[in-house]
Amino acid sequence: MSGNGLDGTSDREPGRTYDQATYAVGDDENEPLLSEKRSDTVKPSDALPDDLTRDELTLPNPEEPEVARHYTRLSQMNWSIESGPYPLGSCTMKYNPPVTEDVAADPNAAVHPDRSADSIQGTLGLLAGLQDYLARIGGMDAVTLQPPAGAAGEFTGIAIARAYHRANGEDRSEVLIPSSAHGTNFATAALAGYDVVELPSDEGGRVDMEALEAAVSEDTAALMLTNPNTVGLFERDIEDIADVVHDAGGLLYYDGANLNALLGRARPGDMGFDIMHYNVHKTFATPHGGGGPGAGPVGVTEELEPYLPNPRVEETDSGYELTETDEAIGKVHGFQGNWLVLVKAYAYIARLGDEGLRDASAKSVLNANYLAEQIDLEVPYEPFHHEFAATAGDAEAADVAKRMLDFGVHPPTTNWPEMVPEAMLTEPTEIESKQSLDDLAAAFDAALGSTEEERHEAPSRTTARRIDQTSAARNPRLSWQALEEE
Ligand SMILES: *Cc1c(COP(=O)(O)O)cnc(C)c1O
Repeated sequence: MSGNGLDGTSDREPGRTYDQATYAVGDDENEPLLSEKRSDTVKPSDALPDDLTRDELTLPNPEEPEVARHYTRLSQMNWSIESGPYPLGSCTMKYNPPVTEDVAADPNAAVHPDRSADSIQGTLGLLAGLQDYLARIGGMDAVTLQPPAGAAGEFTGIAIARAYHRANGEDRSEVLIPSSAHGTNFATAALAGYDVVELPSDEGGRVDMEALEAAVSEDTAALMLTNPNTVGLFERDIEDIADVVHDAGGLLYYDGANLNALLGRARPGDMGFDIMHYNVHKTFATPHGGGGPGAGPVGVTEELEPYLPNPRVEETDSGYELTETDEAIGKVHGFQGNWLVLVKAYAYIARLGDEGLRDASAKSVLNANYLAEQIDLEVPYEPFHHEFAATAGDAEAADVAKRMLDFGVHPPTTNWPEMVPEAMLTEPTEIESKQSLDDLAAAFDAALGSTEEERHEAPSRTTARRIDQTSAARNPRLSWQALEEE
């Protein structure tokens, strides 16, 4: 381990200031598994049948401080929004305020999902309240909280579109998706059994109206769109786009990943969208799942309400009830989705209120625009909103990103969307201060100012150096046993 500043050998560029020395606090060698630190061998008790027990089992048996230090060290080897800025475009990596964790940790929130409706009126009331918040924010008439992620929300939404068309006696076969869209849009449409028709962008980076008009037909089930789009541009022609799709009998689907840019200012429902999902881990500061529990609620217009998944939470004269419709697409998750994630989203929205939400969108757009001004990179598509797709130009975006890690910040999303060569899709979010944006800009500049070789060798100050991303994705070893067996 060298050059991390801890031994006085910092090789940060002189004249630049970095607040954090948060990198390189350990490596694979110096943080052993808990079981390697201290283990006890336990023998099975006589109470269990022989054929269900092993002869002996070795279990870690560390002292409490050892456990605390072990996990603290591991957390320091990782990166998080609590470590520093995390400007990963499209992902909206905002800080998750602990107050929402406190609310979710309230013992009163620990409710078994299968209790009878009349014994969990408070729970159902909160869910109905969140449905109502989200409907108002999105300009939708009804909301389901069941889907466990944005991608699952997309699938739910497209299943609703299919049910609607079928109820009208139509079996439409195509879903239109702009080429700049997120991969989950294509996967959703394909998984739902649709043919995907890819729409090119026009020169300005927006939906190409001529291409749209040519693509739309009586086979069009839906157009999936995000607005602002993936290069941060507002689709100005959204009302015309909605007309074109609706005139052909199709539905307009809103990918809510970029809703942070519009919060409290503009509503997908008012733009003509019929269905939308909300990425609560992006817009409403619930933790990004990392494979864990998430939520991706779906909102629809009145016309589509009967197709929402069963059961629905509804307020009636006699309190909150779980209701069902015959037209519903079925159930997409146990209970009403991941309850405690929904509690956090509710707490976040309730705490910010109308003013706070509006403020969040204003600052997210201001921060992106300020940051883009500070860095020495061209941004081909303007005027962008909450995120911008800069091009690394002659440098390789992935190398610049890896080098940024050495300067104590997380890099932006790279090489996506493809319409920008060597794209660095950057979204600082509203949580960063001016100082922190300046630090981020300095890290951009330092990475761009490094030699090509330095960038190619980067990162040199992190716990793990360049990892083999393809193997990590294709052959993940998800347990230490699997690693040991090798
Ligand atoms: C994040 C994202 C999604 C997928 O949402 P998940 O909640 O991660 O499943 C879809 N579209 C866009 C544009 C996104 O950024």
